[in-house]
Amino acid sequence: MIEHLNTVCYRFKSVENSWTLPVYLEHGGYAVWKEIVKTAPDPKDLIEVIKRSGLRGRGGAGFPTGLKWSFMDRNAPGPKYLICNSDEGEPGTFKDRQILTTNPHQLIEGMLIASYVMGLDVGYNFLRGEFALPFQRCESALAEARAAGLVGASILGSKLNIEIHNILGAGSYIVGEETAMIEALEGKRAYPRYKPPFPAVHGLYGQPTTVNNTETLASVPMILAQGADWFSGLGTEKSGGTKMFSVSGHVNNPGVFEIPLGTSFESLLALAGGLQEGRSCLVVIPGGTSMRVVPGAEMLTSEMSYEGMEAVGSAIGSGGLIVMDDRTDIAQALAVMMEFYQHESCGQCTPCREGSGWVSALTARLAQGLGKPGDIDRLYAIAKQIEGRTICAFGEAISWPVTSFIQHFRPQLEVGIASNESSENCT
Ligand code: SF4
Repeated sequence: MIEHLNTVCYRFKSVENSWTLPVYLEHGGYAVWKEIVKTAPDPKDLIEVIKRSGLRGRGGAGFPTGLKWSFMDRNAPGPKYLICNSDEGEPGTFKDRQILTTNPHQLIEGMLIASYVMGLDVGYNFLRGEFALPFQRCESALAEARAAGLVGASILGSKLNIEIHNILGAGSYIVGEETAMIEALEGKRAYPRYKPPFPAVHGLYGQPTTVNNTETLASVPMILAQGADWFSGLGTEKSGGTKMFSVSGHVNNPGVFEIPLGTSFESLLALAGGLQEGRSCLVVIPGGTSMRVVPGAEMLTSEMSYEGMEAVGSAIGSGGLIVMDDRTDIAQALAVMMEFYQHESCGQCTPCREGSGWVSALTARLAQGLGKPGDIDRLYAIAKQIEGRTICAFGEAISWPVTSFIQHFRPQLEVGIASNESSENCT
């Protein structure tokens, strides 16, 4: 069985006061950053290391990090910004909070390195509104780093100036979308923007901006300290390194586990204590509730990697893995998810604003056993009409769970059609 690694981002799980500067320094913290400040390496060389490491965005989309960094025009006039997306709001996902709480200095070091590489002036670490303790830890770590001359003006006596701020959000789900986060930082309502233009060209205050996830940035110091080959060798050819998964649902030992990408799902399930005696795995959501669901039998033969999850028709997403055993009421599970998405739609796009309400109403009546003939086809058609027709990926977050649940669990959903109902009327 694979051991829980504690290798890259979650390495201080059992270390006392790991969030303080003295403990981080004891474990080699800021060594990479100090070396960069001293030797001023060519940023292009550092981007190459990140590219070779195979690091991909750990927030959901899985975009190659080195490639994303290479989009930034270092010579663009005016200030340029880094945003660390610590607004971990995807249902089932609770791994970034462990980094923010147990290892904030590694994140700060990652943000400093990223800012140096891309020529950025200011970094904002945007935490979700509910993260009281993580915010407190990040604030105290930042104060320590600033007092030690590692952050701010004339870093370690050099000509380098990089400022970092922690920002606590107000608790909306959609602010986790990168352009909505930019709007919120500008003091506006968190409405996602049309893309293009992408943030690398027109981001915060109209200036070039890179948005990276917490786990992505926290991985950077370890990659530069240990080398690209070390990191990529931990994973598979297409999925370099380790990944943190938050495992919840019908398992005996829910929690956060950092494992090499390519680890079998069965091993991850074993780390989470397995299923209860006598139960079987009915369905798994591998990467937060906005991803497509996968039948348990398929998951049991799959591996936790970007390509492994693609092969079973889903994605690693945010790493929020939810396990449901054979007692699960499928219609009820889907209805709960859709109620959430209806509540969190920002309302800018008609397909999302109206569609999320229709989908929520239809799934609720199936869950109550009050469905009407044709409801499941209707539900599928509405979900398909939302997909690809909205400003942001929230449309897919509504559509994918619905269509995949129908694809794999239609008979279970049909149980929710009322037996005495003959009307074809939707309303
Ligand atoms: Fe808002 Fe939904 Fe449109 Fe995204 S898809 S911008 S959440 S209405």
